[in-house]
Amino acid sequence: MIYYDFHIHSCLSPCADDDMSANNIIGMAYIKGLDYIAITDHNSCLNAKAFKDNELPVKVLYGIEVETQEEVHILGLFLDLDKNQEFGKWVNEYLPDVKNDPTFFGNQIIVNEKDEEIGRFDKLLLQSISKSIDEVIDKIHELKGAAILAHALDRKNSITFQLGFIPEGIKADAIEVKSVEEINKLKKMHPYLEDYLFIVDSDAHHLTDISEKDNQLSSLELERLLRPCKT
Ligand SMILES: [Zn+2]
Ligand SMILES: [Zn+2]
Repeated sequence: MIYYDFHIHSCLSPCADDDMSANNIIGMAYIKGLDYIAITDHNSCLNAKAFKDNELPVKVLYGIEVETQEEVHILGLFLDLDKNQEFGKWVNEYLPDVKNDPTFFGNQIIVNEKDEEIGRFDKLLLQSISKSIDEVIDKIHELKGAAILAHALDRKNSITFQLGFIPEGIKADAIEVKSVEEINKLKKMHPYLEDYLFIVDSDAHHLTDISEKDNQLSSLELERLLRPCKT
């Protein structure tokens, strides 16, 4: 079994703590007994590189949490750092040119693998890009990433809340929820989701919020989740 948490924000996300650096996140994931994590900042992949060469036995997926023009959050998870960086550049092209006000939204800190600050991102990351849910999912797939509907039952920025439902046949590779109870609730609301893969993540913005050893995938399920990253 693989213990995971595929939705963790680093210090680049203005709403996350400034101590969410690469070594702190990986160290905490290790202490908690996780095998696999993903780093998923709002609309940016600029901190992904810092997670590349860690020496602890915690595998890292290079991710992002995109906000679509419908204000729906979609996770893109990549095995390949270059593809992840290319996707980050694509997202940035469609991110409105509005400056971050750190005193209101928080700091957007870019770090290296030694947890040293190497810059601050100027444009506000908490915005919608001018691309739709389908366009974002297609682009993730084009760059060999897995697309996941983030916190699908939340009352903020979830597909269920923004659209009122999950469209049948949506090309997501998995649906993320916050608890096992939510999986049953979603399946009851949308019987056609029966065959989708569900994952449970923390959406951590603080080190202590990173998941405990609670959520697991079989190696077959992990294989299924990461299939788009390999084909
Ligand atoms: Zn979100
Ligand atoms: Zn998030």
